[in-house]
Amino acid sequence: MKYLNTMVTFSEFPDEIALCINITNCPFHCPGCHSPELWEDIGIELTFDELNKLIKSNKGITCVGFMGGFPLSVYDAACFIKANYNLKVGWYWGGEKNNYPLYIYNILDYIKLGPYDKELGGLGSPNTNQKFYKIENGQLIDWTYKFWKHGK
Ligand code: SF4
Repeated sequence: MKYLNTMVTFSEFPDEIALCINITNCPFHCPGCHSPELWEDIGIELTFDELNKLIKSNKGITCVGFMGGFPLSVYDAACFIKANYNLKVGWYWGGEKNNYPLYIYNILDYIKLGPYDKELGGLGSPNTNQKFYKIENGQLIDWTYKFWKHGK
């Protein structure tokens, strides 16, 4: 699993200061994708050493967000973070619920599911097909409304 770049945001994971890591080689190829450069198999290998370096150089974060990626790699990276840091972990993924092993819900704090559909809009659109969930005890709690105006 490789990444192209990172950013710290307040908006991708509600109530968190999140280090968002943009993972490349995205298999979904959604029409109207905001970041088609992430379709390419490019970037830096996201090893545990690299993850350590990114987390240590972004003091004050409360969450690490994987923006894309692959179920088993994200699972391994999330386990590493939970074993070494007191941080939340979230995952933005273009797939749907039940497309991957459900044990991933036991390690993540947040998950965004669903491909981008430009007719329906992203998470900020009340018509969106995408869902953002907070995960508690393996249960998915729908927080998508938090991305809509007056949603908080
Ligand atoms: S899942 Fe995200 S990055 Fe991948 S093609 Fe769709 S919008 Fe682009």
